[in-house]
Amino acid sequence: MRTGFLIDMDGVLYRGGELIPGADQFVNLLLEQRIPFLFLTNNSQRTRRDVATKVQRMGIPIEERHVFTCAMATARFLSQQKPGGTAYVIGEGGLLTALHRNGYAIVDKAPDYVVVGEGRTLTFEMLETAVQMIMDGAKLIATNLDPNCPTGNGGTRPGCGAIVALLEAATGVKAFSVGKPSPVMMRAARKELNLAASETIMIGDTMETDILGGVQLGYYTVLVLSGGTSRNDLRGYGYRPELIVDSLADLCPQGRLVDIVPTSNRDDDTPMDIRQWALTH
Ligand SMILES: [Mg+2]
Repeated sequence: MRTGFLIDMDGVLYRGGELIPGADQFVNLLLEQRIPFLFLTNNSQRTRRDVATKVQRMGIPIEERHVFTCAMATARFLSQQKPGGTAYVIGEGGLLTALHRNGYAIVDKAPDYVVVGEGRTLTFEMLETAVQMIMDGAKLIATNLDPNCPTGNGGTRPGCGAIVALLEAATGVKAFSVGKPSPVMMRAARKELNLAASETIMIGDTMETDILGGVQLGYYTVLVLSGGTSRNDLRGYGYRPELIVDSLADLCPQGRLVDIVPTSNRDDDTPMDIRQWALTH
């Protein structure tokens, strides 16, 4: 049975700069067995090469083609919507590079789009400029709507969604968001792997993005508890993942990949514990 994985990064593969135990073994098994996978991140700051390098330095030999960022998804989407367009960007290198690669010019006057990513370079002048551009007719695009991001030292900082909320409040214009859980990014990632929805498994630690996106597109969803979500949090959601595991290590006990069969090919999609489920299959 052919399957492939879309895998969130922060809280799944690493926390801050630290590898989550077992994540390297899981990814190495995917590489060894030539199982298709893509790391899916809502962080638009870095290019895919930067992200691949960060993972390689943690001892996991992935390549650039294994990384898909919301900046890439946004740039590709815009190049389809309006080829050769212009953008005013609130964001950093990953977003600027992706837009350039997709035929966009970055401008500071009369852009087609105001595109917002996260970053630390935000100033009040940039916000003022963006508000005026939107009032003058530029379209507001968010790379993602994550309200905040974890910082390396266990803290939290405002995310892209918070900046977008400010622009929405100031202009009365609603942003269109491309990153997870938007079907634009979720579907583009699946297509990148050449998989059908029924062959796609989404692994993530965030209900509002990874799991919601996977549920909406009919992927098999696996929630890992190694990031921002605990089992108790699940009570507040009207949807649930198909599988909950403590971390990626649970998907490769004793150095062997657990055989996950996606939704449409299973007769029983109720198990909540991978170990118990693995024992009976
Ligand atoms: Mg995450």
